[in-house]
Amino acid sequence: MLKIYNTLSGKKESFRKKTITLYTCGPTVYDYDHLGHAWNYFNSDILRRTLEYNNYKVKHVMNITDVGHLVSDADTGQDKMEKSAKEKKKSIWKIAEYFTKIFFENRKKLNILYPHIVSRATDCIKETQDLIKILIKKGYAYKISDGIYFNVQKFPKYGKLSGNTLEKLKAGARIDINLEKKHPADFALWKFSPKNEKRQMEWDSPWGKGFPGWHMECSTIAMKYLGKTIDIHTGGEDNIFPHHESEIAQSEAINKKRFVRIWFHTRHLKIEGQKMSKSLKNFITLREIKNPLALRYLFLTAHYRTPFNYTEKGLKAAESALKSLYNFFLSLEDSKRINKKYQKQFQTAINDDLNMPKAMSIVWKLIKDQKAKDKKQTLLNFDKVLGLGLKELKIIIPEKIRKLIKERETQRKEKNWEKADKLRNQIEKQGFLIKDTEKGTNISFA
Ligand SMILES: [Zn+2]
Repeated sequence: MLKIYNTLSGKKESFRKKTITLYTCGPTVYDYDHLGHAWNYFNSDILRRTLEYNNYKVKHVMNITDVGHLVSDADTGQDKMEKSAKEKKKSIWKIAEYFTKIFFENRKKLNILYPHIVSRATDCIKETQDLIKILIKKGYAYKISDGIYFNVQKFPKYGKLSGNTLEKLKAGARIDINLEKKHPADFALWKFSPKNEKRQMEWDSPWGKGFPGWHMECSTIAMKYLGKTIDIHTGGEDNIFPHHESEIAQSEAINKKRFVRIWFHTRHLKIEGQKMSKSLKNFITLREIKNPLALRYLFLTAHYRTPFNYTEKGLKAAESALKSLYNFFLSLEDSKRINKKYQKQFQTAINDDLNMPKAMSIVWKLIKDQKAKDKKQTLLNFDKVLGLGLKELKIIIPEKIRKLIKERETQRKEKNWEKADKLRNQIEKQGFLIKDTEKGTNISFA
């Protein structure tokens, strides 16, 4: 039985139903995505694939934040999107479109499945305003000079996900906090456009021209497509507070119903043991990763609830391990059945809160087991979760190389040994090895 750790309960939990609604907090599309993003979305992908492997029917929704995410979590500072547009001297809509495109290209290279529904925050302005109206009507929200705020003191469970209390939040509040707020932890539902500045993105509302607060879009989009209660909500651990805590408060205040059953959070990623930050100049974007599937392999050797330490050495080792796996797979004979013994071990590992390091050890145990049968079909079955592209492996070998191999086979049949050898050299120069067997030519990555 599949069990997933729930941040809210602190326990591993299972599901009683066969259809699972899954919501993923998407990116703020103002810059190139980095390794931390990849690690986070990779783990959501493993979660979804594991659910599907267990025959759950998954409905997966993700948002794209293209407005309202401010530089500071305290609802102050510039809008990240507006800031990026100004720096790059581009229209904010163009910035959003460009980085959304890059984001999905990167996901594809990492074999991360596309959500069933993707919605931009700016696609749901009307729905967001409708929810804010309900919060005002129910007495959970109030207006001050720079926007409409959620009153956390009206929601006694505020802090249940992060372990924060209103007292602790008050004590730890920054001094430059907006003093008009009733409590330092009150968060913006709708912010008014600044009086001295023209925003590129702003909308009319019953309260004044402005834009939605960051947390609102996820409640809006989750409710719009998945209903009042969703089964699993994923995100990075840095989203727990204030983002997810605030999503809970808004949604449960509106619906008087539990918003999320299981909160799934990926721990952070470090670079060579250090926090990734622009000031340390150790910021690695996905554009710099030449072999995305090797990165995926590297991620597979770790568990999502342990901080991930990315190292260049680790990526190199993953690259060579992935190559060995591919070469082994390419040398296998076709099989129709799945090795049940190994499948059971694999499924037990992934079903224990996505224990991928264990699952990978089972992959290699199967490979090395001389007596094990049906390896090819079994590995293909595992790859539904691993996503290393085994099924498409033949496609990874370029058409050009496959043509050269065919030609060489013909030359060999006609006993033109010299020509055949020349072709072998050509193939090897391009990074592939060939071996002649009774059944034909075996190809592998050099
Ligand atoms: Zn979110």
